[in-house]
Amino acid sequence: MNNSPISTSIFDLFKVGPGPSSSHTIGPMKAAFDFLERLKKRPEATLQTADSVHIQLYGSLSATGKGHGTDRAIVAGLLGWQPESTDPTALLALLKEPAKTYPVQIGNRTIPLGVEHIHFERKKYESPYANTVVFKLVSAGETLFEQEYYSIGGGFIIRKGEEAADPSAIQLPYPYQTMKELKTRLYDHQLTLEQLMLANETAVTGRSAKEIDQRIDLLLDFMHKAVRRGLRHTGTLPGSIKLRRKAPVLFQQARGLAQSSDSFLIFLNAYCLAASEENAAGGIVVTAPTSGASGVIPGLTYLAKHHFHYDKTTLRAGMWAAAAVGFLVKHNASISGAEMGCMGEIGTASAMGAAFLTQCAGHSIGAVEAAAEIGIEHHLGMTCDPIGGYVQIPCIERNAMGAVKAYNAFLLATAGTPANQKISLDAVIKVMKATGRDMSTKYKETSEAGLALSATEC
Ligand code: SF4
Repeated sequence: MNNSPISTSIFDLFKVGPGPSSSHTIGPMKAAFDFLERLKKRPEATLQTADSVHIQLYGSLSATGKGHGTDRAIVAGLLGWQPESTDPTALLALLKEPAKTYPVQIGNRTIPLGVEHIHFERKKYESPYANTVVFKLVSAGETLFEQEYYSIGGGFIIRKGEEAADPSAIQLPYPYQTMKELKTRLYDHQLTLEQLMLANETAVTGRSAKEIDQRIDLLLDFMHKAVRRGLRHTGTLPGSIKLRRKAPVLFQQARGLAQSSDSFLIFLNAYCLAASEENAAGGIVVTAPTSGASGVIPGLTYLAKHHFHYDKTTLRAGMWAAAAVGFLVKHNASISGAEMGCMGEIGTASAMGAAFLTQCAGHSIGAVEAAAEIGIEHHLGMTCDPIGGYVQIPCIERNAMGAVKAYNAFLLATAGTPANQKISLDAVIKVMKATGRDMSTKYKETSEAGLALSATEC
């Protein structure tokens, strides 16, 4: 376990970027961009002799990187593109023509980058993380400079050798590592969850409360734009599965029904599918906490806004509760499908969604914790086995299922006394970590087992 207090920013957990995968698309793009930036600091004499950049992908990045567009993301990053400002159409156009090369700026000249420079390595590679990428600047076959990166889920990356960067160097007003510690801080200082999280966020980012509020509103706006686009877009998703979009069909169906439990569920399904289908199509989404799981929270927040008519202040408070749960899982287990299987992605998103709903409805921190615990508990052991390496089957429907479970977790947690909940959030996160560690690699975003093997029957 990381022994430093949690110092992740809400804007690192919820990131704007192109789909379909935070670990396989956004992470590698950021790593490539970072490599480019690091090259700028190399001596010009070294850069002058370079003739190519080679990229080696290992682990899950190699196994399912093609379906996730990892190669395009790497080209984009080396061209200087950043996830939040990338045009998804331009990104999808990269590498369409296999013979085309792209000019990478190295010092005061450019060198060509083509598909032959990106290597999906099949051999085993000793690495502390499942998703590893190595960038090499090469001259006549000799490596001039290299950097290894780990994509650890949710678009977060770590450079080799910098794993031990000390986040405790940040002076947090209310440090915590576990839900137990978080609750102690809340009680001791008589704070609301939102007040505590905001104070820590200000310490981490240096932003004012007003600026942070505005940026959370903007995140919600990005999420809801993805939902609205997905409700409009019809047709088939990219890739060999030829999966037809379903969100607009469900939306029309829900609109044709009288208000009922069925129509409520179909609306929620439609919203979650809409954002997930946009993600699968490579559209701009918000990691929540990952791109694969970027339908759960957008679907629930859209529902909360348009059906429950919660105001901005309430939605922001809910987002802080969701963030707190996401931080705790990321810190004490992992939000990466390649590390934890799908319980790390959809399981975490469902727990965050349950916490969001419970907080918005004005319940206690005990109820928020119980809802999140239930959300994770009933995703334990869920594997990650996307067919063909595409974030489509089971991922898209899984977002809708995760949101429905989140809603039920909220109902279960708010009936009766939260103190009667036998399992704590900290305990279930520990179980998630142990289960993820014991899970066979075949079920961790490699498409080597499970549903992925039923591809021939599709
Ligand atoms: S199965 Fe789950 S964890 Fe795996 S890619 Fe799909 S959404 Fe992500």
